[in-house]
Amino acid sequence: MSDETEVVTYETRGPVAVVMLNRPQYSNAQNSKVTYALDAAFSRAVDDDSIKVIVLGGHGKHFCGGHDIGTPGRDIHESFDRLAVIWYDHVGKQGVDSRFARESEVYLGMCRRWREMPKPMIAMVQGACVAGGLMLAWSADFIMASDDAFFSDPVVRMGIPGVEYFAHPFVMNPRAAKEFLYTGGRFDAQRAKELGMVNHVVPRAELEDAVMAMAERIAEMPRLGLTLTKKAVNQCEDLMGARAGMDSVFGLHHAAHAHNAEVGADSLAGLDARAMARANKAADGEA
Ligand code: ZN
Repeated sequence: MSDETEVVTYETRGPVAVVMLNRPQYSNAQNSKVTYALDAAFSRAVDDDSIKVIVLGGHGKHFCGGHDIGTPGRDIHESFDRLAVIWYDHVGKQGVDSRFARESEVYLGMCRRWREMPKPMIAMVQGACVAGGLMLAWSADFIMASDDAFFSDPVVRMGIPGVEYFAHPFVMNPRAAKEFLYTGGRFDAQRAKELGMVNHVVPRAELEDAVMAMAERIAEMPRLGLTLTKKAVNQCEDLMGARAGMDSVFGLHHAAHAHNAEVGADSLAGLDARAMARANKAADGEA
């Protein structure tokens, strides 16, 4: 199940496609290989007329611990067949020319592409949903979480104002988003539900059944109606500033990366996955 060659699994259950991150040994850390495997799975679901709803989850203890900033499968210097194509390929380029290009494609561009998929998608979240994991869950239409789920975006610790897909002020209110980012601390599933980021919280053992029941209920609606409804809500969210805000914040995000690279050893302020986890645990009081 955790074979590194199959970093994303795909199965259908009647009208529901279940897409699962499959690097549980690394808390489902997202490298580019995962990004493109996710895209292939989503495309398969969108192209299959018998599929009405997509569920996005993760095998193992955690939904997703973030972008891959330290596993042996980290692949930031590899080229892939790009799909978002809002910038050119990053490989063989330097500095901002490389970093901005890469993150435009694999982070901002791909998450946006997935948010715009013409079929509803539910994120099924257990355990950690951290930093890059948030971007995946937020690309879905809504989140159903188990009672052990927690959410955090600790990248301010790197001097960076939040992850690349800056939906924070929209998935929760702006003041909560500030606390979320300023502290880098964990919001548990219940808090996330109170803030509107999560729709339902259920016991861990019941999560999958609850999500499937929801997906099957949605699947009873007509396909075109679902697609038009998804577009309707997304268009209104964009008119409230979601898309333009995200574009403007992406520039701030890259000012931070460039600053780190200019004054230090790398664009992540010298923090790898382990150092981040240590600092986050200390700040959370081992919570
Ligand atoms: Zn970044």
